Amino acid sequence: MVEVRQLKKSFGEVAVLKDCDLSVDKSEVVVLIGASGSGKSTLLRCLNFLEQPCGGDVFFAGQKIDPQRDNLNSLRAEVGMVFQHFHLFPHMTVLENIVEAPVHVKKEKREHALAYALDLLNKVGLADKKNAYPHQLSGGQQQRVAIARALSMKPKVMLFDEPTSALDPELVGEVLTVMKALASEGMTMIVVTHEMGFAREVADRVVVMHDGKIIEEGPPARLFSAPSHERTKRFLSQLSSERLTGQL
Ligand code: ADP
Ligand code: MG
Repeated sequence: MVEVRQLKKSFGEVAVLKDCDLSVDKSEVVVLIGASGSGKSTLLRCLNFLEQPCGGDVFFAGQKIDPQRDNLNSLRAEVGMVFQHFHLFPHMTVLENIVEAPVHVKKEKREHALAYALDLLNKVGLADKKNAYPHQLSGGQQQRVAIARALSMKPKVMLFDEPTSALDPELVGEVLTVMKALASEGMTMIVVTHEMGFAREVADRVVVMHDGKIIEEGPPARLFSAPSHERTKRFLSQLSSERLTGQL
């Protein structure tokens, strides 16, 4: 579904991604971990060309993406993204936030977009908040709206960049539960997270980044119990025990 080959990205003189190769199958859930600054966000952002890679190729559903020629808006419609900070439109209700892109970018009929938005709100457990404004919601609720908003474009892949890092601990679970449900419906997902309980339970594969490179990958059970790379061992040993064992 998604493949990157020899992906390179520099900011000025600083090489941030160094020949990254990653391939994600349809319905696969990949959790991306690594120390702060290792390049995880940049890798996700290059996948939907929020950042222009400096080299290498990105393939989506078997097609090589050419950022000069291809319509990046239609690519971005197929690759949903959820950020650490929810970026909801503050002056719009929950429902308006969700129908904005389908109506204005995809030119869907408003009534269709509204009906689908209500389905999505049911899915994330927030149907009763459809007319609320973002500031009236908790962080966990706002992030669930952000997930519904990304899903409103009917993406084939969802990218999550530390979706629970800005939340109070007691609100993390409700967001992870929505993500777990999405995974069980067969969504292809790439998730940057430090929630290893989620990785253990939901990920098919964990990919470890260090200093702009993918240094190791494997199924969570193997990777957490017997990491082969010294850097992976060090990274895992620095995570709090709560994050390592936390249950959904
Ligand atoms: P991570 O998400 O793993 O913490 P990032 O991908 O955000 O890492 O950042 C990787 C490196 O790239 C860091 O050293 C960061 O400072 C640098 N970086 C990220 N974005 C930019 C940018 N827009 N301009 C310059 N440097 C950047
Ligand atoms: Mg990041």
